[in-house]
Amino acid sequence: MNRYVGQTVVVTGAGRGLGYAMAHRFAAEGASIAIGEINAAAGAELAAELRDKHGVVAEARQLDVSCSAEVDDWIGQVFADRGRIDVLVNNAGIIRDNRATDMNDADWHAVLDTNLSASFFCLRAVLPAMQQRSYGRILSLSSMSWRGNFGQANYAAAKAGIVGLTRTIALEGARHGITANAIAPGLIETPMLASMNGPARDKLVSKVPLGHTGAPADIAEAAAFLCSPAAAYVTGVVLDVDGGLGIGSSIR
Ligand code: NAD
Repeated sequence: MNRYVGQTVVVTGAGRGLGYAMAHRFAAEGASIAIGEINAAAGAELAAELRDKHGVVAEARQLDVSCSAEVDDWIGQVFADRGRIDVLVNNAGIIRDNRATDMNDADWHAVLDTNLSASFFCLRAVLPAMQQRSYGRILSLSSMSWRGNFGQANYAAAKAGIVGLTRTIALEGARHGITANAIAPGLIETPMLASMNGPARDKLVSKVPLGHTGAPADIAEAAAFLCSPAAAYVTGVVLDVDGGLGIGSSIR
């Protein structure tokens, strides 16, 4: 399919993991890609790969998405260069897990800043460009943890914040032809998941109704639909892509 030919897709944190898979997926369907990534080498490498493999325009900017001034400058440049922004994918994220009693201020703020505030800064920056053309797709990465997860007070609060933010922007964007949706991934094979220790990880995987972890391609597939013109009547949703893990307890 070539659903994204002529479109500009902005992806944060695409240097590896889910963002990397999504950037490749959008480029495979013809999108021009703008990457905002704190890891300069990873961003530049991905941009080169996208140009070589898919023949699309792809540029990376080294930036910290939790800094609104850096975001505004980057998005302004993307708009000046490409003349349009059709899709924003708020993907950059970090974890700093600990029980609430052991969680320090720095880890609380870092997770809220990178996962939640940054998503707000990015969508606020792209909205004028989208409103101008009466078209836009905003997708933000939540997590199954948004419902609450032991040891993740900061991350769960940020990812629940993504849900409220998404639903609000769905309302504010609707009159401008802009949709806002979220994906709540379950256990997906990325470096973030690899950082979990073995036994905790095995215990979690054993609870997935479909019986296995997901692949980044599973998230990219959902993103490619939600951000496409075909998803015009889908807004304000949180799509669980988690093998059924979010359904809740199951007695087997
Ligand atoms: P990852 O750690 O593999 O990749 C995150 C990317 O974001 C990295 O390239 C990193 O350099 C970049 N990044 C981090 N901080 C940044 C900043 N301040 N500015 C710019 N870039 C920054 O993570 P992932 O597993 O691919 O997760 C992607 C998103 O999906 C995150 O929002 C995460 O919370 C969410 N998620 C992932 C899973 C999973 O199983 N992997 C599950 C649920 C939700």
